[in-house]
Amino acid sequence: MEEKILDMAVIGAGPAGLTAAIYGARGGLETAVFAGPAAGGQLLQTMDIENFPGFPNPISGFDLMTKVINQAKRLGASIISEDVKDISVCCSPFKIKAGGAEYSAKTVVIATGAQAKWLGLPSEAKLTGKGVSGCATCDGFFYKGKEVCVIGGGDTAAEDALFLTKFAGKVYLVHRRDQLRAAYILQQKLKSNPKIEIIYDHVADDFLGSDKLEAVVIKNVKTNGKRTLQTPGAFIAIGHTPNTELFKGKIKMDDEGYILVNDKYETSVAGIYAAGDVCDRVYKQAIVAAGSGCMASMNAIKYLEMK
Ligand code: NAP
Repeated sequence: MEEKILDMAVIGAGPAGLTAAIYGARGGLETAVFAGPAAGGQLLQTMDIENFPGFPNPISGFDLMTKVINQAKRLGASIISEDVKDISVCCSPFKIKAGGAEYSAKTVVIATGAQAKWLGLPSEAKLTGKGVSGCATCDGFFYKGKEVCVIGGGDTAAEDALFLTKFAGKVYLVHRRDQLRAAYILQQKLKSNPKIEIIYDHVADDFLGSDKLEAVVIKNVKTNGKRTLQTPGAFIAIGHTPNTELFKGKIKMDDEGYILVNDKYETSVAGIYAAGDVCDRVYKQAIVAAGSGCMASMNAIKYLEMK
């Protein structure tokens, strides 16, 4: 295997990882980002971003991340379009296996983000990709003029429901409580959209259909009464799980798998930092991810200077 020595290996290419790379490269470090096949992270699935400073008009996640990728490249960071298959953290330099090559890195920034959670119903798994989806931006287009439903009550569910009204004739937003968790401005938009019906106090009980989704059975959590929504599209938007499988048993995590960091974004292993949603249980915002990527990277630069 070919071996390359890096000052900084960034794992993950969302706002956190790419910002870490920008600061690493600008700090004079030989920096590479392991980006997987599609650099950009979760924002690639967001249509309109209107809360990232510097963009007075909404910008799509794809356009924003394309700019950030180009910025990181212009400053000298290499983007490696491979997933990391393994990492050894026992001793420095750390060893990273990706795309048939082994790399050594003096510092690592883990910025692998998070991914959508599923409800865990057998019928959900059976019909995933056949009408049940975790990505409204990816699959919404298929439901022109149809009735669809979104499960969840947070910002993602609200944004998904609003996005789906661009295509669907009607969108049911099914939430398990009598109050949404989504931000106030999103709630206002939901309530003023005539295509959206919010169904409170209900959970998804079953997804019906043999080879494609035909209906979703929802259950009232207060009365146990059931209702069937005839819909070919159901979008699950109930939160996220951190992408930390690769680091289990190597880096300390909390009970939900979020990487534990201190106020310098240092993990339990000296020289390894984490940033963004992989260590953020609370904010999960692109701007926060970018900020933590910056801080992790600046601290990694200092760590190398002290060595
Ligand atoms: P979230 O805030 O954790 O909300 C998840 C929602 O799904 C909650 O309403 C929750 O209900 C519900 N839920 C969880 N498990 C469920 C289950 N098993 N069955 C039924 N419902 C379930 O997740 P998110 O909406 O993906 O947002 C994650 C983070 O990203 C948040 O910090 C959010 O602010 C941020 N975000 C921001 C933007 C933006 O600013 N534009 C966009 C998207 C996401 P309960 O309310 O009862 O807990």
